[in-house]
Amino acid sequence: MSTIFTQIINREIPADIVYEDEVCLAFKDINPQAPVHVLLIPKKEIVSMATVEAEDQTVLGHLMVKASEIASMLGLSEGGYRLVVNTNEDAGQSVFHLHVHILGGRKLTWPPG
Ligand code: 5GP
Repeated sequence: MSTIFTQIINREIPADIVYEDEVCLAFKDINPQAPVHVLLIPKKEIVSMATVEAEDQTVLGHLMVKASEIASMLGLSEGGYRLVVNTNEDAGQSVFHLHVHILGGRKLTWPPG
């Protein structure tokens, strides 16, 4: 089932887009948890890490390469950043379209809550 992220991909609702290509889209999180908080999503409607299939390998690899490039573009590489993929209920996933959180711009604590 489609989510609000598909509406963002289709430009049906606005978002502050920072990167786009034929495979993925990156936009600022509406409720940022760090000075830089971007969501990177595949255009393919993958529900979560729990539903990933072997055929998704190229898309997921693409997301990791682009996460690195986008973090660099946003000035995060030297100081550091965190990539998070919340998966299902225990991790607090709230939008069921796979997304990579790119978080940075402040010291991030560990372990996460
Ligand atoms: P999750 O909790 O599923 O890992 O993360 C979902 C993220 O999507 C949250 O950080 C939330 O703030 C963000 N989000 C939810 N709805 C929207 C929206 O309509 N626009 C944007 N830009 N972010 C959203």
